[in-house]
Amino acid sequence: MARSELMIDLDALVANWRALAAASGNAEAGAVVKADAYGLGAATVAARLAREGAKKFFVAIAEEGIEVRHAVGPDPQIFVFGGHMAGDATVIRNADLIPMLNSAEQWQRHQAESAGRPFGIQLDSGMNRLGMEPAEWDSVKDAVLAANPVLVMSHLACADEPDHAMNAQQLAAFKAMTDGINAPRALSATGGILLGADYHFDVTRPGIGMYGAEPFVDAQPVAHLNIPVIQSRIVEAGETVGYGNSWTADKPTRVATIAAGYADGIIRAQSGKGKVYANGVACPILGRVSMDLIGIDITHLDHIPETVELLGKHQTVDQVATAAGTIGYEILTSLGNRYQRKYIGA
Ligand SMILES: *Cc1c(COP(=O)(O)O)cnc(C)c1O
Repeated sequence: MARSELMIDLDALVANWRALAAASGNAEAGAVVKADAYGLGAATVAARLAREGAKKFFVAIAEEGIEVRHAVGPDPQIFVFGGHMAGDATVIRNADLIPMLNSAEQWQRHQAESAGRPFGIQLDSGMNRLGMEPAEWDSVKDAVLAANPVLVMSHLACADEPDHAMNAQQLAAFKAMTDGINAPRALSATGGILLGADYHFDVTRPGIGMYGAEPFVDAQPVAHLNIPVIQSRIVEAGETVGYGNSWTADKPTRVATIAAGYADGIIRAQSGKGKVYANGVACPILGRVSMDLIGIDITHLDHIPETVELLGKHQTVDQVATAAGTIGYEILTSLGNRYQRKYIGA
């Protein structure tokens, strides 16, 4: 079988969530499961976290909330960062979702189409991505607060850089917009949780740290990706490997071809830079990553491995991201559909 195995360790994910919940102090830790739980399977991840006591889940768009609702049952709250878009009212009602209203327009839509249904508010504290700006908030604040929002939140732009001046600036902006209100408040994702108590407010929204990546450097690995070796050969000095002849052997080299490629989310930008591991021994990627195949150097091994590890005990999501010139979030959310997925602790 040439199918790679993606093993998702939900026991490790729960340990990471608990660690981030503890680091959230008195705030309640929710769980961000948008983008199919960062590529690891929203239904399975959310079901396990609900069993562990998570009561607040966050998705990006309303449609993602349907699957999460099925997985967690009727009690947990499911918040939608994208808010209440035109056409969302039916899904919001049927899946019992809480839109985080991002604008006065969304507030009006929610009143018109979902009056009396729970909602939250998203404020812009400086990132200029989603949320009401201070003047817009002022214009609707009294009416909104009278309707009892279940959560008022904002999002930090630079929380993965603890010394960045933007953190304190956004904290001050968020406080200026929300101090004195009765609704529960939330400002922090993984990075903000690690900035300390000033950033915790009432609810936190960990995502990436649960899934085993930076900025939560103490995270346990959650995704373990093992790729079968299909073939191996000796490449003589002067011969090349892969598309574009981008790698040339300078001595006889044993090259193994493994059965995964950029169609599986192994980002092509790590051509000639990334590594995989055979029983803990690093094997460099040779030449370009193809759609379904990658050449690796196994000259230094005393055997031909059956499989090699791309993610797991020996290589973190962030090491792969660095080799590909990107971030852990993109590595995880790019993981493809061709893997045989196995869950530990589902
Ligand atoms: C994605 C996201 C989160 C989770 O962020 P992480 O950095 O993955 O912890 C929290 N809040 C909002 C608004 C988000 O978009």
